[in-house]
Amino acid sequence: MRIILLIDMDYFFVACEEIKDPSLREKPAAVTTGSEREGSKGVIMTCNYPARKFGVHSGMGANQALGMCGDLVLLKEDFKFYEKKSADVAFIIKKYSSLVEQVSIDESFVDVSDKASTYEKALDYAKTIKEDIRNSAGLPCSVGIGPNKLIAKMACDAAKPNGIRLVKPEDAKAFLSALPAGKLYGIGSKTAEKLSRMGIKTVKDLASSNKMQLMDRFGTFGLEIYNYANGIDDSEVVSEYETKSIGRERTLRRDSAEDGDVVPVLRALSREVSDEARAQGYSFKVVTLKMRYPDFSEHLKSKALKMSDKESDIEKTAEELFAKYHDKGAKLRKVGVRISGLVKSKSQRSMSEFFA
Ligand SMILES: [Mg+2]
Repeated sequence: MRIILLIDMDYFFVACEEIKDPSLREKPAAVTTGSEREGSKGVIMTCNYPARKFGVHSGMGANQALGMCGDLVLLKEDFKFYEKKSADVAFIIKKYSSLVEQVSIDESFVDVSDKASTYEKALDYAKTIKEDIRNSAGLPCSVGIGPNKLIAKMACDAAKPNGIRLVKPEDAKAFLSALPAGKLYGIGSKTAEKLSRMGIKTVKDLASSNKMQLMDRFGTFGLEIYNYANGIDDSEVVSEYETKSIGRERTLRRDSAEDGDVVPVLRALSREVSDEARAQGYSFKVVTLKMRYPDFSEHLKSKALKMSDKESDIEKTAEELFAKYHDKGAKLRKVGVRISGLVKSKSQRSMSEFFA
């Protein structure tokens, strides 16, 4: 039996700001991207619940948000601090399970199958972790508990804010059925529209729809959402802590969509990563490119290679992933290069040095 938790921090960026200034708790407050452009105050990244009462939500312009809520406190993002708090939370979670997959700065899947033999025990375990995060990091979170990652994620959405929701396997289908199709994990507004045109409005409709027709329309993604609608998700919790990695990242001098601004940075990062791998005597199998956009959304793209210790392989792969996956025209804020699947290759290297 598998038992998976999704731990998702509540209104994370503003919750971090509330640690610096507790008086914010009583006020509507939002963290913005800030803006260099005159007359613009940037875009809302996160807001607290008092702000949400006024209809303020992430993704809207800060000027528009001020129109809805004149007392809204706007705070410029302090990403360094959020990353530090994120690391604090990750450290706490790791005390409870070694099988942790961090999926974003404020969300982690935790496989507790080995720690809790029943769902009731998992619920107690989740309460303990949640309290520890509250007490040790000073931050609120919500926890979803289910038989797989999909159900844990959906349960967590239902638990927000500051809650815990357990959905047992036997209740999973009924729990999902009631939701509109657009609320199902993986289904964005565009897919929801297409489904609606096919007469599929709810997760229940999707679960009982024609699988072949979905695959005709959406390819393998169609099969995936059909399975999701039926509560099926076999994906594992992939723990990063199991595999060592070496990575470097850098904020671009300005937000830029230009290859000419990005590619030299990728090369420099590849060189630094390669130098460190060499110093530590590692060969690598996987190269990962990280792209962060000005709205702080993040994309990680990886490619597996044959075992290598060459700087040129890191550089080539990073550039290839960039060319393939970067949205042309979309401005980037930060890029990172990481290698993993590391194997000690000291002896091999000293041999090649010997013959060099
Ligand atoms: Mg969150």
